[in-house]
Amino acid sequence: MNDIIRTVDVGGNGSRRADVRGKEVLNYVATRKGEINDVAALFEFAASGMTSAHVGVAYVAAGDIRADGVMVKASNIPWLNGVNLVNGTKAICKTNVIAINDMDGAVAGMARLVGNPSYFMGITWSSGIGKRVWKDGKILASCEGGHVCVDRSPFAMLCGCGLRGCVESICGGEAIRRRVLAETEVRGIKIPDGVSPCRFLDERYVDEEQWAIDIYGMIALAMGEYLATLQTLFRVPLVVWKGTFALNALPLIQSQIGCHMRQRLMNPDWEGDMEFTMSPEPENDALIGAAALFEQA
Ligand SMILES: [Zn+2]
Repeated sequence: MNDIIRTVDVGGNGSRRADVRGKEVLNYVATRKGEINDVAALFEFAASGMTSAHVGVAYVAAGDIRADGVMVKASNIPWLNGVNLVNGTKAICKTNVIAINDMDGAVAGMARLVGNPSYFMGITWSSGIGKRVWKDGKILASCEGGHVCVDRSPFAMLCGCGLRGCVESICGGEAIRRRVLAETEVRGIKIPDGVSPCRFLDERYVDEEQWAIDIYGMIALAMGEYLATLQTLFRVPLVVWKGTFALNALPLIQSQIGCHMRQRLMNPDWEGDMEFTMSPEPENDALIGAAALFEQA
């Protein structure tokens, strides 16, 4: 736990790095979107300022990363596709290097931050939805939890993945943003300048406007169905949430979600068995988790 690990989060909206020791995040540096545009610049950024105190480098990035460190398909960074992050960085740093999916990193970080529970599920609820199950120090599978179907009707929402009715196409922040824009336009409602559509939805929901209540009703129904499916499969005692949408929506609709869950569970009591908490450090959990997975590797 006392080793210093250089962690690098490669993102489409800018990358960041930090030195992590246990739960401590030191020497944090963030870049702006577009500041790092190629592999050589990324490796230089990753290795910058490393000393003999660093035992290695751990990358996190959104996308499908092979165990040998090759980025098979990056979510938002086309120039990263096919790049071997491990070999390229090893050649410069001469230390051990790992590269993992950012959701894997986040959930490993959540585990460390919430006291190492033996069994829980981490769910990101922001523009999209991601989930991982953590069991006895390991991630069960790098899955695509946002693309579980919760609406099989022919008119179900089209998802970014090409399927219809995925939970992300109904509950994801990006889908909600588009829905709010469409609803307000049809109704002739003007969203004030500088207010995001999702924030506007929250305000109007609290003011009990029917259109906002209806949208949140739909979100609660889909999320309840989703969590009931997950609870039927996994029986987890704890969900650790992160993401802007979770932060704002859960206080408003958690009890509605619970009602929908109970109606869809073989034993309705399983709803109450699933405790909710928020990630204590949503900004840093992926970096802390990357370091934790490096130590395990
Ligand atoms: Zn989908």
